[in-house]
Amino acid sequence: MADIIDGKAIARQLDDRTKAEVDALVVAGKPRPGLTVILVGDDGASQVYVRRKIKGCEKVGIRSSEHRLPADTSQEDLLALIDQLNNDPEVHGILCQVPLPQHIDTRTVLGAISPEKDVDGFHPVNVGRLSTGTGGIVPCTPLGVMMLLETVIDDFVGKDAVVIGKSNIVGKPVAMLLLERECTVTVTHIYTENLPEIARKADIIVAAAGAPELVKGDWVKPGAVVIDVGITRIMGDDGKEKLVGDVKFDEVQHAKAVTPVPGGVGPMTIAVLLHNTAQAAKALSNGADEDADPYHDAPDRSLIYGTAEGAQAS
Ligand code: NAD
Repeated sequence: MADIIDGKAIARQLDDRTKAEVDALVVAGKPRPGLTVILVGDDGASQVYVRRKIKGCEKVGIRSSEHRLPADTSQEDLLALIDQLNNDPEVHGILCQVPLPQHIDTRTVLGAISPEKDVDGFHPVNVGRLSTGTGGIVPCTPLGVMMLLETVIDDFVGKDAVVIGKSNIVGKPVAMLLLERECTVTVTHIYTENLPEIARKADIIVAAAGAPELVKGDWVKPGAVVIDVGITRIMGDDGKEKLVGDVKFDEVQHAKAVTPVPGGVGPMTIAVLLHNTAQAAKALSNGADEDADPYHDAPDRSLIYGTAEGAQAS
C-alpha cells in the first residue's frame, strides 16, 4: 500500500514553524509581519479563499488587513492602492485575489506589487529569480508541492520527474523547483502525445491538469511518488457532489507515496502563503537595517525555500 502524504499534518507543522518565526521577529524588536489582501468584486469562491487566508494569519500571529473594493473599481484606483501598500512599512505581503473583473488587466496589477512583498510569487522578477535559482519568493502551491515531496524523498538528484500541466501558477514553477533539485524534468500538457507512456517512466509525478482522475493506475511505476494538485468538483454515482483530484487514487496503491484530495496539496497552499509572508517580513526588516538594495540582495534562499524539516508525515 502506498503511504498517504498527510498534507493537513504537514501544513500544521509548517504553521507552527511560521508562528515561532513570527514570535522570534517580534521578540527581536522587528515589526510584526503583516499581510494585506485585496479583493475586488464579490466573487463567492474568492471571498471564501480570502476568509481562509485571514483566519490563517490569526493562527500564526501575522497581522492582516483586507481591502474589499467594489467590482467597478478602476484599474487606476487599484494601482494607487497597491502603490500606497508598497510604501507602507507595516505591510510585508500584498496579495491581490484573482480573478479580477474583466476591465482590469491582471498582469499590470500583479506586476505593480513590489517583488519583495509579492507573497504569491507571481511578479516577473520573482519568476525570473526562480528560473535562475537566485532566490526570490516562490509561488505557494509549487513550494507546498516541494515540501510534501521532501517528506518522502531523501535524494532528488537524477530522479525522473514528470509534471502534468504547464500553467504559470503551478506546472512551470514546479518544474523549475524540481530542476533546481537536479531532477530530470519532463513538462507535459494537453497536446502531449503518449502521456501514459511518459508518466510510466517517472519516479515523481506531479499532476496539475485540472482533469479529474486523468492519471490511471497503469500510468504509475511501482515505487513512484505521486503528488495530486488537481481539484475538481464532480457529481458522484450517488448523485452527490464530491471533490476529486487528477489521479485515480484507488488505482495507485503500488506507488511509494501519494497525496489525497482533499487533504494533500490544498492545505499546504495557505500555510506556504503565511510562511512566505514571514520570510518577506524578515527580508524586508533586514533590508531596512542594512540599507540594502532589495533587487540585488536577494533574500537568503534557505529562508524562502527551506526544507520542511521536522515536517515528516506522521
Ligand atoms: P490551468 O487550467 O491553468 O492549466 C492546466 C494545465 O494542464 C494546462 O497546461 C493544460 O495544457 C494541462 N492539461 C489539461 N488537461 C490535460 C490533459 N487531459 N492531459 C494533459 N494535460 C492537460 O490550471 P492550474 O491553474 O494550473 O490548475 C490545475 C489544477 O490544480 C486545477 O484542478 C486547480 O484547481 C488545481 N489547483 C489546486 C491548488 C491547491 O491549492 N490545491 C492551487 C492551484 C491549482
